[in-house]
Amino acid sequence: MSPYWSEVAKSLTPYVPGEQPKLANLVKLNTNENPYGPSPKVLAAIRRETSDALRLYPDPEGTRLKAAVAGYYGDIEPQQVFVGNGSDEVLAHVFLALLKHDQPILFPDISYSFYPVYCGLYGVAFDKVPLTDTFEIRPDDYLRPNGGIIFPNPNAPTGRALPLAGIQRIVAGNPNSVVVVDEAYVDFGAESAVALIKDHPNLLIVQTLSKARSLAGLRVGFAIGEAKLIEALERVKDSFNSYPLDRLAQAGACAAIEDHEWFERTRQAVIRSRSALSRDLADLKFEVLPSAANFIFVRHPQRDASELMQQLRERGIIVRHFRQPRIDQFLRISIGTDEECAALVAALREILSA
Ligand SMILES: *Cc1c(COP(=O)(O)O)cnc(C)c1O
Repeated sequence: MSPYWSEVAKSLTPYVPGEQPKLANLVKLNTNENPYGPSPKVLAAIRRETSDALRLYPDPEGTRLKAAVAGYYGDIEPQQVFVGNGSDEVLAHVFLALLKHDQPILFPDISYSFYPVYCGLYGVAFDKVPLTDTFEIRPDDYLRPNGGIIFPNPNAPTGRALPLAGIQRIVAGNPNSVVVVDEAYVDFGAESAVALIKDHPNLLIVQTLSKARSLAGLRVGFAIGEAKLIEALERVKDSFNSYPLDRLAQAGACAAIEDHEWFERTRQAVIRSRSALSRDLADLKFEVLPSAANFIFVRHPQRDASELMQQLRERGIIVRHFRQPRIDQFLRISIGTDEECAALVAALREILSA
């Protein structure tokens, strides 16, 4: 701290992202990155865009990207799409534009830890709604007065998915507030709620290209909802940064959304590896929550989670542990290549037999 800091800067509790270690040769299973690279068509599109044109500002509207997202979903118009520099930035604008009201917003007690950080940044009050004992969202718990609702589906870090009927119950039961479904992991096994948008003007879906499209390094996210919701996001964006997506990001993101084949192949590979890893860890007596994401959330009945994390680290494998009530005995493990999963299983077998 310093006397030069504003009261806002002094008051913040920033988000702590998963470690990005500088060491090479680590098996990195801690931040849910995709183990497979992005589509070669993405890299080609970025190379094509790498030209003298970089002296010019990019399209501030992201017109082509909005059209690509709308085209991918079919019954969505480009003016129902908002694009931003990673879904974290999209979410930030959502908090200021759509979730900051008099009443507290609601989100699960175990959820994406960036939500309370945005509440702190923008002065949004919140109430945490406990998940059930089996870490599920119970829709009826969200049928009470609120200033807005946000949750990931599948949830993070549990990996559990809420079926579409449950989402519909929450959205239909809260016509006076915006319900935000953060679908960062939806392509790994949950059902997208985009189909509900036409009947629900209070529903906003947020997605990212960081996970299933393997572009965490490019920073592209988007939101889909009724045009009036999108207009509020554009107003905040144009009061903050008119050019959040650079030329390379827009070109790469369009190519990623248009390459259906690469997307299908890599996400199916992750889903297959998730089943195999879940079975292997169950054989080692881990309790494995059913996951619809590209990670699994596991606990061992006899071993302390933070010690396990440390022992894995000593063997060059990093996973994520959250020092947080209810989940401090769990580890979140991203799905790697089959080779990385095998290294993890071998290390755990060795640790557990000691
Ligand atoms: C990874 C993640 C994001 C952020 O994704 P970016 O687009 O990389 O900013 C948002 N929400 C959840 C739940 C995530 O896990």
